[in-house]
Amino acid sequence: MNNDIVSLYNNYNENQLSDFFDRLIEFINKYERIFSRFVFEDTLQAVKKLDSSDFYLGTSKDNTEGLVRGYAKEMVKATKKEICYDAVHLIWDIAAFTTQETCPSCQDDELKIASSTDQMKIYKVCDNCLITQLDGEFVDRPQEMIPATKKQVHILIG
Ligand SMILES: [Zn+2]
Repeated sequence: MNNDIVSLYNNYNENQLSDFFDRLIEFINKYERIFSRFVFEDTLQAVKKLDSSDFYLGTSKDNTEGLVRGYAKEMVKATKKEICYDAVHLIWDIAAFTTQETCPSCQDDELKIASSTDQMKIYKVCDNCLITQLDGEFVDRPQEMIPATKKQVHILIG
């Protein structure tokens, strides 16, 4: 598992983000039984079916390439739990759509668009201070969220 993820991360290419994303999803499917020990069941079931073509990839201003390079080194000796957490975090980082809207709470990050695992609810969330909005109201941050699809992004912001 460690070797697989290290080689995947070492082959990260910012210009082929959709390939990288789909390989990451394949990795999760390959090790689904291990992921199921550390990732919420509904999240895992939703994430394992994600397809790069349904998402706006790479909209985050975070330095994803730096993040992946860092992970590649750490993953050599990482525990299974760390591998699973980082992979799911990376899915979020690559596929969660980042809006132009500054967080109304911390004013320190742009809001992202997220979905409930059943894709029935669409949220605006801040990764920095963790506020969550649903239909314009502040709500408790759900335990489980997945990136919003292109379709969901358009429903929310036109
Ligand atoms: Zn915030």
